[in-house]
Amino acid sequence: MARMHHAIGIDIGGTKMAVALVNDQGAIAQRLVLPTEAEEGFDRAVGRLAAGIEDLLKSSGLTNSRLAGIGIGCAGPVDPERGLINNPYTLAGWDHCDIATPLRERFDLPVHLENDADAAAAGECLCGAGLGFDPVVMLTFGTGIGGAAVIRGEINRGVNGEHPELGHIPILPDGPECCCGTRGCLESLASGTAIGAAGREGGFRDARAVFKAAQAGDNLARSIVERAVEAGATAAWTICHTLLPQRIVLGGGMMDDHFELFASGMRRRIQAATQFSWKAVSIARASLGNDAGVVGAAAMALRRA
Ligand SMILES: [Zn+2]
Repeated sequence: MARMHHAIGIDIGGTKMAVALVNDQGAIAQRLVLPTEAEEGFDRAVGRLAAGIEDLLKSSGLTNSRLAGIGIGCAGPVDPERGLINNPYTLAGWDHCDIATPLRERFDLPVHLENDADAAAAGECLCGAGLGFDPVVMLTFGTGIGGAAVIRGEINRGVNGEHPELGHIPILPDGPECCCGTRGCLESLASGTAIGAAGREGGFRDARAVFKAAQAGDNLARSIVERAVEAGATAAWTICHTLLPQRIVLGGGMMDDHFELFASGMRRRIQAATQFSWKAVSIARASLGNDAGVVGAAAMALRRA
């Protein structure tokens, strides 16, 4: 069979879904963005996605027989083995929703579903900040903190398809409550939500206001930001001692403005390490931005082809 050089990548988030035709170098040939409107129902969203794929195929002149497959990255939890989205938390009503079967039947193509953090890491490894490094660990700092590891070219996962929950690395045993039911996880100290919540107690509107006040020298804001940076550094320490990455990639909205702050905290911390070769670890900013999801999703389909 001829090698397939294109795949469809889909990135499903709480508010929008991106669909793209991506080549095997990670370049986006065509794309479109659709509303998720999860509350309108899962079936309607699948209908919009299918129509979007049809549009991309039509305008590109490719037929589905020329594609390696369809890759989907979705805000988790997801069940990659069975192609199920189980995320009623940010996708209202989407629990045990089978997205693989309808798209596979409609287009006669293999469909691969992954957590969005795993898809983003796969994208960075195909053509972004993870290219040429292995193992790669990606941390995504946004509303929450996501993580993924790519080891020997494969996404690291558990026996049931789980992926590493790096946002829940314990940092402070008596720290703030975390959504996972314990206290003081990385996410409860260093996510945008956590920084915003700590800031509101001191009268700041949100995380952005905290970062701005910290830069202007406000003591409370500085202590919140320093705590977040230290939490990131401790997490990097743990990651380096357990997963032995060659590269740590930092992505997510917070890294647009604060990458150097967090990366230098991590670098400072791991330089004290004696149990692994810290000089072999580099820390880089994710380079695909908002495209990481669709490119990574397509990369997974291309890899499996
Ligand atoms: Zn937690």
